[in-house]
Amino acid sequence: MNKKFAFQASGYYCKNFDEVEYMHNQLICVNENGMIEKVFNEDDIEYKKTLFKYRDNNQLHVLKDDEIMLPGFVDLHIHAPQWAQSGTALDKPLEVWLDEYTFPLEARFKDLDFAKEVYEDVVDITLKNGTTTGVYFATVDREASVLLAKICGEKGQRGFVGKVAMDDPAGCPDYYKDFDGKSSITETENFIKDVLKLKDNYEQKVYPVITPRFIPSCTNESLEGLGKLAKKYDVHIQTHASESDWAHGFVKEKLGKNDVKALWEFGLMGEKSMVAHAPFLEDADLEIMIASKTTIAHCPLSNAYFANAVLPVKEFHSRGINIGLATDISGGYSPSIYHGIRQAVISSKMLQDGVNPRLDKKIRGRKNAAITLNNAFYLATVAGGKALGIPVGKLEKGYAFDVQIINTKENIPRFYKEKHPEDLLHKVLLLAQTGNIKDVWVQGRNTHE
Ligand SMILES: [Zn+2]
Repeated sequence: MNKKFAFQASGYYCKNFDEVEYMHNQLICVNENGMIEKVFNEDDIEYKKTLFKYRDNNQLHVLKDDEIMLPGFVDLHIHAPQWAQSGTALDKPLEVWLDEYTFPLEARFKDLDFAKEVYEDVVDITLKNGTTTGVYFATVDREASVLLAKICGEKGQRGFVGKVAMDDPAGCPDYYKDFDGKSSITETENFIKDVLKLKDNYEQKVYPVITPRFIPSCTNESLEGLGKLAKKYDVHIQTHASESDWAHGFVKEKLGKNDVKALWEFGLMGEKSMVAHAPFLEDADLEIMIASKTTIAHCPLSNAYFANAVLPVKEFHSRGINIGLATDISGGYSPSIYHGIRQAVISSKMLQDGVNPRLDKKIRGRKNAAITLNNAFYLATVAGGKALGIPVGKLEKGYAFDVQIINTKENIPRFYKEKHPEDLLHKVLLLAQTGNIKDVWVQGRNTHE
């Protein structure tokens, strides 16, 4: 168990989708369980007294003038094994990329030494980039998937980890799949039990996630059984839905309905469910998303390569769908959610203006589609916590102390005091590099130490 401590810090977090809270020189008190138990403003009567108390007990951290505090990021969709091939073959179509690169790579993870090497590196690099919670796809292999959960736990990252279920001989290579539908269910159940045993070994906890890869690679038997497991264990669920023209069309043809409807019928949609990508959701799909309270894991970088379309974040959000942000390693090449934030804004602006200059501006784009940096910051923090049903993403009482300490001196122009406090946040979101992230705390523990 940790000791109590306090931080005197300036920083930012999202109050809601549009608005950011600027904290000036506040005192953030963290309890033994790594939870924020109190936040004092400078003009609170107890501010000075409390600050002196922590200082005298040697429990006070004071940020430097050129440092700020931000909430840690939640990466809602990341394929841990694919880190090994990040930056490779993104010019191929999705189905070719899967068959020629991704499946052969993932099959190597039954070798636990190889798995350990890659998994340790992906957890290190995402922590270094400010990701305090990661929602991971591992591989078909159960033991290696449990190993990933352990590595997250030990390195101090809050890991939500799934053993991938894929069993359909028509949609999987024979060298890389569950033996059959039945074994995809029993292996997933054993995985859930293994991770639940580990869960409380770590202050920040690790969690099992039911992970059918996507409908093209799963039989109905498997999907039905996984839906039952979700009910039995009340755990999170993740998969892909309506990612690209090919994937969306494939499922329509295979099952005569869209991903979302099928997933819903299999019992795989709900408050604890996350579907990645989803630009091609149709009106009936959106109704199911809203009714089931399923979250979209938005993968703007990988969508730019593979999805054939831009997710209309603003429209879907305004209809009441929760949307969090994701790197989608390695469909997205960068392990940094900062890059996700930047691409989310860029893509949305291109969606709004349109991209074909030969078209008249009246028909070139899609009205009211651009999102702001504040919106993207919200997706990366508060929306991620909401998706997982855990108190992360804000610097408020009752939230886990999951934060990143940012040095604003390097790589960021600071020739004058910014006109508005938010201007500095936006500079950081757009310009910060890995080296600007000085420390990353998860549940009250500095993971950089
Ligand atoms: Zn994915």
